[in-house]
Amino acid sequence: MKMVLATGNRGKLREFRQMCRHEVVPFSDLLGELEIVEDGESFAQNALIKARTIYEKLGSDYLVISDDSGISLPVLDGAPGIYSARYAGEGATDKENLYKLIDAVKAKGLEETPAYYTAAIAIVSKYGEYVVHGWMHGKVIAQARGEKGFGYDPAFIPEGYDKTLGELDDDVKSGISHRGKALALAKPIIEMLQKK
Ligand code: IMP
Repeated sequence: MKMVLATGNRGKLREFRQMCRHEVVPFSDLLGELEIVEDGESFAQNALIKARTIYEKLGSDYLVISDDSGISLPVLDGAPGIYSARYAGEGATDKENLYKLIDAVKAKGLEETPAYYTAAIAIVSKYGEYVVHGWMHGKVIAQARGEKGFGYDPAFIPEGYDKTLGELDDDVKSGISHRGKALALAKPIIEMLQKK
């Protein structure tokens, strides 16, 4: 089965390729641009919506993997959560989302606050559907530091570190990240399905 990643996000594709030994192509190489309405109420539901939509278009020769992820701040009642990609509005850039989050933390009168990233990975193939999760805990600070990573990374300091993910190298991140942990769980499922 050929493996397809149901994401248009270059940052995620790079991280998947780094962590997975199978060749994986983005769905847009096969289907072009496609608008998928992510109207689920959880990361798992949205990941499944994306993977099912692509699988239905490509057919049973394909194993489709999708990731839905985001950052949650308890002080903001879990926001932005599943709305992380569009926190500053539909079509918002990573920078706009990042600075809206920093402003929200400042508006609470805080310089830092606990936060966690969640990743749900869905795998859809002719053998059925699977979803796994991974989390990375840490804190969000009220400033952006560093240019590495993507999204909210310049404001996120993982537990046990004193630098943001914008300052830490990509390989440090993949060893501790929500996506890395979810992918570690997804890998044996992918291997098992590839062997069937
Ligand atoms: P999705 O493409 O719907 O899963 O949106 C995920 C959004 O959450 C991204 O656009 C980022 O804003 C944010 N996000 C998810 N994972 C990460 C990460 O590893 N670093 C930084 N931001 C992330």
